[in-house]
Amino acid sequence: MKIGNFPDSERRIRLEIEIHCTKCGKQVPGGIQTGEKYAQSAEFQHDLKELKENYLCGICRDKKRVQK
Ligand SMILES: [Zn+2]
Repeated sequence: MKIGNFPDSERRIRLEIEIHCTKCGKQVPGGIQTGEKYAQSAEFQHDLKELKENYLCGICRDKKRVQK
């Protein structure tokens, strides 16, 4: 999964961070892809925290859509 706002020219890195669906607890496969410089920023820490608190896997997202 790719996160963050960083320019396409920025080198990408892969981080092995465990993120779980907030509903079913399923882990995001493959870790996270982000920009090399962006990953060092405070903004990244903030975005990662938000993501961990709000993440839904594809299945739970679909269920949410159907229930609406
Ligand atoms: Zn889920």
